[in-house]
Amino acid sequence: MQYHVNGNLVPAEEATVSVRDRGFMYGDAGFETLRAYGGTMFEWEAHANRLRRTCDVLSIDHGIGDGELRKRIHETLEANDLRDAYVKCSITRGVQAGKLTPGPADNPTVVVIVSELPRGGKRGTSVWDAPATAEIVKTRRVPDHALPAHAKTHNYLNGTLARLETEADEALMLDLDGNLTEGATSNLFFVRKGVLHTPSLSGAILPGITRTVVLELADELGIPTRTGCYRPVDLRRADEAFLTNTTWEVRPVGSLGDTELEIGSVTRELATAFDALVESRHY
Ligand code: PLP
Repeated sequence: MQYHVNGNLVPAEEATVSVRDRGFMYGDAGFETLRAYGGTMFEWEAHANRLRRTCDVLSIDHGIGDGELRKRIHETLEANDLRDAYVKCSITRGVQAGKLTPGPADNPTVVVIVSELPRGGKRGTSVWDAPATAEIVKTRRVPDHALPAHAKTHNYLNGTLARLETEADEALMLDLDGNLTEGATSNLFFVRKGVLHTPSLSGAILPGITRTVVLELADELGIPTRTGCYRPVDLRRADEAFLTNTTWEVRPVGSLGDTELEIGSVTRELATAFDALVESRHY
């Protein structure tokens, strides 16, 4: 396997960054998890825009254009002869003198790693085809005014602590006021009486790219949709629920704590529509 580090393809075992790198020391970095289908990135522009917004939040002015990033990702896929793949692209502020105060990102560290990720669902090869178990945990989502949830930074301790609390596949977090936010690495949807609900972007959630695609698909399919501020009781009363992220796509929730959940018709319809969209664009 070959990875891309600072403009060079290197064997995975030689792909290293300095222990003085601020991404390693402080989580001072932005990243994107992408998915390549048939050799092309799904929703590239949305990912590039979100990475840019993350770097803006962190004032990481790295000066590397979207075209250059895309080229490095494609070079990495090609070097590994991968068409269906998981792709992670990280940009850190780089190596700086050992003090917390950040300096300008004039020597950023840029890393692209990839691994094979066959299409799940119809091909049935992914562990993520299985419905997820989920649980609402005690760890609260960090408030936006402490660490903006819309920035996808290397600091994933909030989600890490949430996942440590449970053996469920996904740990769902509430905000400080007790409203539902999202999972450690996924956005939450639920269906009640035929209406699709998901926490709105005004809450402390990452604006998931899969979330946006699913909302657009729901619109096209004529599924009524609401975004809003929800309490745990709203989820407990749901007829069906699912999680979305780039690797899981649309993943049904099979249980919430001790309560089993049906994989309902709206979830199936959206998962099928998502599959069809990917097929139509990429194969
Ligand atoms: N929320 C969090 C905290 C995430 O880490 C992720 C993805 O990793 C998502 C939501 C889903 O985002 P996307 O659909 O862009 O992968």
